[in-house]
Amino acid sequence: MGSLIWDDQGQEYLDLYGGHAVISIGHSHPHYVQRITEQVNQLGFYSNSIQIPLQQQLANKLAELSCLHSYQLFLVNSGAEANENAMKMASFVTKKSGFIAFKGSFHGRTSGAVALTDNPKLIAPCNAREDFYLVSLGDLAGVEALLSTNTIAGIIIEGIQGVGGIQVPNPGFLLGLYQLAIKYEVKLILDEVQSGYGRTGRFFAHQWVEGIYPDLITIAKGMGNGFPIGGLLLSADFHASYGLLGTTFGGNHLACAAGLAVLEIIESERLQQNALVLGEQLMDALKDIPGVVDVRGKGLMIGLDLDRDAGPVRSILIDQYKIFTGSASGKTTIRLLPPLSVDWNQLHSFVVALKEILAS
Ligand code: PLP
Repeated sequence: MGSLIWDDQGQEYLDLYGGHAVISIGHSHPHYVQRITEQVNQLGFYSNSIQIPLQQQLANKLAELSCLHSYQLFLVNSGAEANENAMKMASFVTKKSGFIAFKGSFHGRTSGAVALTDNPKLIAPCNAREDFYLVSLGDLAGVEALLSTNTIAGIIIEGIQGVGGIQVPNPGFLLGLYQLAIKYEVKLILDEVQSGYGRTGRFFAHQWVEGIYPDLITIAKGMGNGFPIGGLLLSADFHASYGLLGTTFGGNHLACAAGLAVLEIIESERLQQNALVLGEQLMDALKDIPGVVDVRGKGLMIGLDLDRDAGPVRSILIDQYKIFTGSASGKTTIRLLPPLSVDWNQLHSFVVALKEILAS
């Protein structure tokens, strides 16, 4: 329930990782359980060959909470699938095949998405693409040099890098990318798979920077609170090409019921606001702990670097304090992505535990 989970022995754990930012509204929320149960009793699935009004309801609610009213929503089943479709649409519209992503990025494990992920171990020979590039986060000149080759279809960037260790792009850099995308007529794809859905205290992390309207926005993880659902938000330039998209399972009745329940709870329980307030409080408390050398993030998307390897510390947190946390690509980093409904007492128990471990 909420931020608590139990193992098969009945041992209780505090979940400050939310299964990689998936658990947005908390585990087993009664409204979510009821919505899905009612839907499966009524109709669990029918294909997209019929109109599914739940999809429109979900799109409307998403537009309302994100304040992005001019985008069309295409529903898929995962984050990687959302990114594949985003890349495909950018390529269709620009008629180019090159893409730029950033060092430290993670965009998924499927063909195109993995080729734009900064982890060579995951890239099979059949995934490698010659015109896909990884540029350092913040290097606008590097991006512009590639754009000037006139071969690039799009730029993809995470709202905040998650797997890369909670790296928040500089606001000026994001704005610069947006302006370069306009100047060179390439598509800007904001991957909000991990950083979206209120987690950072804004609905989308890129909304921390005024005046950026990405061409495409990808979402998943917190969208279904564990029910597999993802989505692609398409700006007006793509509306004529919407018919090129298709899927069997994407936007099925159950996924939409789960997605609607999540948005209803984010709204009614003011979870985005909770993430904003408690995230700031937690980051302040963590900064004061001896042994913590850096704390960064927004809302409840937090990375902290220790003065030692994080692995053994995370093991003690689980074994002795029964607290789950996440790792990141850096060895000394702990990643926190708790349910947005977590309370201060729960977060404070982590602060106390970490202080004790680092002092011992
Ligand atoms: N994009 C980001 C930023 C992610 O963090 C992830 C997963 O960790 C993905 C895309 C891929 O999502 P999925 O695992 O649902 O395919």
